[in-house]
Amino acid sequence: MLKTQETQEAKEISDDDDDETNDDTDDEGDVHDSTDDVITLNVGGVRHETRIQTLRKYTRKTTRLSEVADIAEKTGKKEFYFDRHPDFFPYILNFYRLGKLHLPMNLCGNITKDELKYWMIDDKDIEQCCWVHYIKYEETHEMLEMFDRDEKHNRLATKRIKADASRFERIRPKLWRFLQDPYSSRGATVSKQLQLVY
Ligand SMILES: [Zn+2]
Repeated sequence: MLKTQETQEAKEISDDDDDETNDDTDDEGDVHDSTDDVITLNVGGVRHETRIQTLRKYTRKTTRLSEVADIAEKTGKKEFYFDRHPDFFPYILNFYRLGKLHLPMNLCGNITKDELKYWMIDDKDIEQCCWVHYIKYEETHEMLEMFDRDEKHNRLATKRIKADASRFERIRPKLWRFLQDPYSSRGATVSKQLQLVY
């Protein structure tokens, strides 16, 4: 579905550009190849074609793809491979094409977070319609972290209680001996000290 849309959009963009190119050709009387700045982005085995210009559309900051555009322009390199999630990338590329960042609803929020980080896109750019889905993940994530912290805290407390219990287990025979025979050598010393105190 998305691929069909993308193809259609790509076609429209391509058609627009062709018109511009034709205008340029008329003005300059020169022949331009309209696919000159087309590069291939292979993401996890799925190939996407786009223009260097498209990768420059997100201008707020440097991103992974704006860096790719720089390299492609400087070196003339035409194909780039990224070992990243192939199902997420169309949403990234769509963001460059249309300026709107939507998210796949079928992917875990963790993947979204990792992918946005990798492509260096701010989660603040997520469109409102998808933001609810994303924020729900964020809240769940925070809640899970809180549970995790609580569990660690509980584990630590249990460990401390167990340590105290085993310490008591160790001293119990001595304590028992002392109570049985308060006049043993050690017991006598303790009794003497207690007498001195009071
Ligand atoms: Zn959306």
